[in-house]
Parts: sequence; C-alpha cells; structure tokens
Amino acid sequence: QFILEAIEVTFEYSDGTKALDGVNMLIEKGKKIAVLGPNGAGKTTLFLHFNGILKPKSGKILYNKEEIKYNRSELTKLRKNVGIVFQNPDIQLFSASVYQEISFGPMNLDVPENVVKEKVEKVMKQMKIIDVKDKPTHFLSYGQKKSVSIADILVMEPEVIILDEPTVYLDPNHVQEIMSVFDRLIEEGKTIILSTHDVDFAYSWADYIYVMKNGKVVAKGEPEVIF
Ligand code: ADP
Ligand code: ADP
Repeated sequence: QFILEAIEVTFEYSDGTKALDGVNMLIEKGKKIAVLGPNGAGKTTLFLHFNGILKPKSGKILYNKEEIKYNRSELTKLRKNVGIVFQNPDIQLFSASVYQEISFGPMNLDVPENVVKEKVEKVMKQMKIIDVKDKPTHFLSYGQKKSVSIADILVMEPEVIILDEPTVYLDPNHVQEIMSVFDRLIEEGKTIILSTHDVDFAYSWADYIYVMKNGKVVAKGEPEVIF
C-alpha cells in the first residue's frame, strides 16, 4: 500500500532552475525510506511537493491514492497528515518558549487546551526536552533546537514524517536517540522519509532507498540491492 506517490513530477523554480525532472517515487506505508543524493539533487524540492508547499509544473502527487488538491482546506488536512522537519531548525521555530512553540500547531487546530497540554508533554518527554520547556527556543543548543523542531511535527500526530537531512551537525548519540523514537513510530504504523548524504547511515537505517541526482531518481531498491 503506497501512502505517497510522485508520478512524473517536474518542477522549475521561478529563475528557471529545473529542480525535478520526471521524478517517480512510491512510498510504502509503514516503511523507513531514505532519499540519498548530493546537494542540489532535488531532495528538498521533492519533499516540499509531498505536503503541497510546492505544486508540480507537470506530473502529480498522490496521498493515499488521491491526487493532492491545492485548495486551502485540503492542504490543511494534508499538512496535518504529512509533516516536514526542515534541515535548519531556525526557520521552523518562532515562538517564545519550547512549550509555546510545540503547542502552537494543535492550538491552531482548536484542540482543547487540556488535550494540547497532554500531547505537548508527551512529545517533550519523547524528545527529551522537558527540562527546557520554559526556555526561549533561541537559547537552545543546535541539538535541542533540532529536537524541538521534530517535537513540533510529532505533536500533530502525522501519518508521514519527512525529515530533511536530520543527522547533520548532530552527535552520533543524539542521532541514535532520535532514531529510537522513530522506531517506535514505525511500530505504530507511521511512515518515515528522510534525506541524507550519509551512505552508511542510509544503508543501516532504511528499508528502501531512492538515489537522486540532477532532479532525477537514478537508483532505487532495498539497501542490499543498491549497494
Ligand atoms: P522494482 O523495484 O523492480 O521496480 P518492486 O516490485 O520491488 O519492483 O517495486 C515496485 C515499485 O514500488 C518500485 O518501483 C519502487 O519504487 C516501489 N517500492 C517497492 N518497495 C518499496 C518500499 N519498501 N518503499 C517504497 N517504495 C517501494
Ligand atoms: P537538495 O535538497 O537535494 O540539496 P534542492 O531541492 O534544495 O536539492 O535543490 C534542487 C535544485 O534547485 C538545485 O539546483 C538548487 O540550487 C535549486 N533551488 C533550490 N531552491 C531554490 C530556489 N528557492 N530558487 C531557485 N533555485 C532553487
């Protein structure tokens, strides 16, 4: 069962840069998918298509077998189901304290305040940031900011979690901690897609790997098949 599909997706930025050139990608529900590729391969651009931030110039994106519709109410629904953690946490974080930051999303969906509190406490524990819950996010270390930016997405309980280069600048222990949180999400049936240029990491972590280059998928398969 494929939860997300990119069919012949082509995209050009307004300056004419061709970032995606006929990309086909099938994301199987409940799997760990790694998208490998050098800088500029089109990984981020593709991810932005998966939750409707960008719209293909040609081709289409399907969520649960249905083509994405680009109106506001459908996009709000899609973004609740498909959460993206950006590479740089600073562009994602804006609120005063860690608690306020993470509660912003569910508050916006009119979730009752006591339920919000419960959900936020749960993800803060999961991501081990409960000790800094009252600190302004700009006082945190890079690693803590990264954990907050992941908690920000997890609190929305998305079906698919997409992470752009989640391992860069993090020490191996922190990467391990984050991956063990993801393992539990996989057990719950969630789907995780991440980009990386760390080949060893992709090989050891992923169920399925896509390799991108110059806006194209140049290889795909299970790790043992790819390497
Ligand atoms: P092949 O890889 O030879 O095309 P498969 O039957 O293995 O054939 O897979 C069919 C398609 O489904 C592949 O093209 C691939 O894109 C996709 N696919 C298969 N398994 C997975 C998976 N675990 N995660 C994501 N996509 C998958
Ligand atoms: P990756 O995530 O694999 O590093 P990107 O999706 O960021 O790749 O970039 C794909 C291509 O699109 C690159 O050539 C990049 O320079 C270009 N690009 C990315 N963002 C923009 C933008 N906002 N405007 C113009 N070109 C962009």
